[in-house]
Amino acid sequence: MALKGVYWSLDRRLFGTNGIRGVYNEELTAEMVFRVAASIGTFYSSGRLLLARDGRMSSPLLGYAAATGLMDVGCTVYDIGLSTTPMAQFATKTFGLDGGVMITASHNPPQYNGIKVIGGTGVEISRDDEIKIEDTYFDERWRRGTWKSLGVKVDRPNFVEDYAQAVESHIDFEAVEAAGLKVVVDPVNGAGSIATPYILRRVGCKVHTINGNVDGTFPGRSPEPTMDNLQGLCAAVKTFGADFGVAHDGDADRAIFVDEKGKAHWGDRSFALVERFFLSRHPGEVVVTPISSGKVVEDVSQQYGGRVEWTKVGSTVVSWRMIELGAKLGGEENGGIFYAPHLPVRDGTMAALLIAEIMAKTRRSLSQLLGELPKYYTVKSKIHCPNDLRDTLMREVESTVEASRLETLDGVKAWFEDGSWILIRPSGTEPIIRFFAEASTMKGAKALIDEYKGRVTKAVKRLGGS
Ligand code: MG
Repeated sequence: MALKGVYWSLDRRLFGTNGIRGVYNEELTAEMVFRVAASIGTFYSSGRLLLARDGRMSSPLLGYAAATGLMDVGCTVYDIGLSTTPMAQFATKTFGLDGGVMITASHNPPQYNGIKVIGGTGVEISRDDEIKIEDTYFDERWRRGTWKSLGVKVDRPNFVEDYAQAVESHIDFEAVEAAGLKVVVDPVNGAGSIATPYILRRVGCKVHTINGNVDGTFPGRSPEPTMDNLQGLCAAVKTFGADFGVAHDGDADRAIFVDEKGKAHWGDRSFALVERFFLSRHPGEVVVTPISSGKVVEDVSQQYGGRVEWTKVGSTVVSWRMIELGAKLGGEENGGIFYAPHLPVRDGTMAALLIAEIMAKTRRSLSQLLGELPKYYTVKSKIHCPNDLRDTLMREVESTVEASRLETLDGVKAWFEDGSWILIRPSGTEPIIRFFAEASTMKGAKALIDEYKGRVTKAVKRLGGS
């Protein structure tokens, strides 16, 4: 079967760093989702599996295709319908199921969709297990059902109630309720629309929303929350006189925060705030973060007697490392916060509640709290790069960059004499190269981005990309 264009498919790979992704009916078809689901069901020995989907236009249809594939191989499917990814992960664990299937393309543009496979613990499955599913898929070895062995689908709506009770149980409900914080939520017309505003209201916040109705065309902004596309939320926070704003991606596993002055902050800074609050109560704990996070995470850890464990980029990598180390907290610069007492997966709603709790207990504004952290300036950028050029390109980057220290755990991270650094890294989900730079001044961070983005753009052109 031809699978043109699907990420990683050239070498029998379906999964990228965050599940399977592709443009609907070009790279990811309903027939393909049926086969993938049948392969997943075979991997789980026709067991009991959760099914959930985000709010994309193609998600209901692909949800049907997945349900059909799972039932064909004899699975019992528990369908919670529209859901955030973290809700689906928590449901899989709570129901005691063998695993789960989430139909989502997370932060990708509206034409995309995808599949995340959840293990029985609620965490996405390991790469080894993905390979087993890929082998079954490409060898077409999924279990062939008979009329007597078909599975059934059980609808389990309103799981948000169970989920709300669970996330609330991890915060000081009374303190948050007493603070009566005013919050603006921007769930980007995605699945977070059904969770975060509702749960913040339950804990006593006064909640306004923008882009708060589920709409798979994403009319408000692009599904990825970045510093460049949160102007609507920043303005709304000021207009409503809110204490903070929170923006999600399409499946609400990420949360980017806006302070009361209408300024958006990168995820590693909001994570550092959670880290500081956590380590002040649990000194000596390890926190897990990818190499793309800023120095602020390490500074806070040193100040409060913690230890940072650096990983490759990717939320699944962070989750698995947290499990290996028994770590309770993890975080990413793109807005992922992993709070293991709930579940060691990133969860945008849980993150919003943790920030609300910190503000309620410290009685300080978000700009004050973030202003207390060591200050660095971060600039990010990206360029298009065809997947077939990336290996050659990255070898060239590694051999030509002049730095005082190089780290090649994931991409190339180069540190310079003045403490600034740049990370140049191919995306795991899209044909792009990402740049992350940090320096003690904005000018310094921009200069690093300009220089290396220019160099890499030229190299891509020279190697035959456009
Ligand atoms: Mg996501």
